[in-house]
Amino acid sequence: MTRSYNIVSIPGDGIGPETNGAAVRVLEAVAAKYGFEPRITEYKAGGSAIDAYGIPLPGETLQAALDSDAVLLGAVGGPRWDMIEAERRPEQAILGLRQGMHLYANLRPATLMKELGNVSPLKDPGKIDLLIVRELTGGIYFGKQGLYKSTEKLFDGTRKGTVAFDTETYSEAEIERILRRGFEFAGKRRKKLTVVDKANVLATSRLWRKIAKDLAEEYKDIELDFLYVDNCSMQLVSRPASFDVIVTSNMFGDILSDLAGQITGSVGLLPSASLGNPGMPGLFEPIHGSAPDIAGQNKANPIASILSVQLMLKLHLGEKDAADSILEAVRKTLADGARTPDIAVHGDEEDKSSITLVTTEEMTDRIVANLE
Ligand code: NAD
Repeated sequence: MTRSYNIVSIPGDGIGPETNGAAVRVLEAVAAKYGFEPRITEYKAGGSAIDAYGIPLPGETLQAALDSDAVLLGAVGGPRWDMIEAERRPEQAILGLRQGMHLYANLRPATLMKELGNVSPLKDPGKIDLLIVRELTGGIYFGKQGLYKSTEKLFDGTRKGTVAFDTETYSEAEIERILRRGFEFAGKRRKKLTVVDKANVLATSRLWRKIAKDLAEEYKDIELDFLYVDNCSMQLVSRPASFDVIVTSNMFGDILSDLAGQITGSVGLLPSASLGNPGMPGLFEPIHGSAPDIAGQNKANPIASILSVQLMLKLHLGEKDAADSILEAVRKTLADGARTPDIAVHGDEEDKSSITLVTTEEMTDRIVANLE
């Protein structure tokens, strides 16, 4: 019987329809080669849903996502919707999907592809191949927050005035499930796990450390170490090749994964996966936004979206051969010199004669043609 998967495609706004369209084309092509059937249905979220329904995440989109095997998302947002009040902005669709689908583990691999030459802003980056596992539905982004008027004064007599607060909260259960994901991914890679925290200051971080040390008894083959987040950000720049898997809280992961992304080249290259418990649908999307500055110009790099399909097939749907085929096709296309504008000019050493500037569609055509 043909293996069949129910995929929800949400193109979104800006370059989203272009890059997600490229990802869907590659998914359909690889599926035909590897004998499975993606049943793809398109839904709206973000600015396009605000235009059509007045809200960023229509109930039918969330329900379809919950009923699916996986969601493929482009990107949402843009200046057209920037004046809308915070609760109804396009970006609420992403938070709503993450929360509604219980996607607590966000995986962001950052790999420096040798086929691209040195696209890293670092002079001598070495072989960067790391995975950030970020907790996605807890911590300070979801803790109690608010504003109040204070009657207290600072030591010099100045009135404090309005006070704002955000709260970092993590339960044992939330920490354990994300740490387990970190240990498991490390086990499938180079067996090194770094827990990043601020345990010298934060009580939540100290609980993360305790639970990580307890779990290490179960994962004896994994080398476990701990780094403070400030030190980690320096080391990602000074010795990025030494990292394998980093597991960290929501806010630290948000910041560090952008740093890790940047040292491996363009945002147009980087995919992500957001997962819940095994058996639940996952969400796969590029790390970049809707890039309104290049939307509709056939200039966007589709590789981050295409590699999001690769993550979906490899990590979630168990179609490893098809996933490997996509990665190889991307590598071959880059090795042949195809470049969208964002990766066309890097450093002075690049040999311009070996490079062909291509559009979003041409890059996708070449990747599809290189699928084996
Ligand atoms: P962005 O990632 O959209 O763009 C930053 C820069 O990177 C721009 O110069 C853009 O042209 C370039 N870029 C991004 N993706 C590219 C690609 N595939 N190929 C080539 N170049 C690419 O970030 P931003 O400008 O801060 O945000 C624009 C909009 O996207 C905002 O409305 C923001 O809220 C939204 N956003 C959405 C998501 C999401 O949907 N997950 C994530 C981040 C930002």
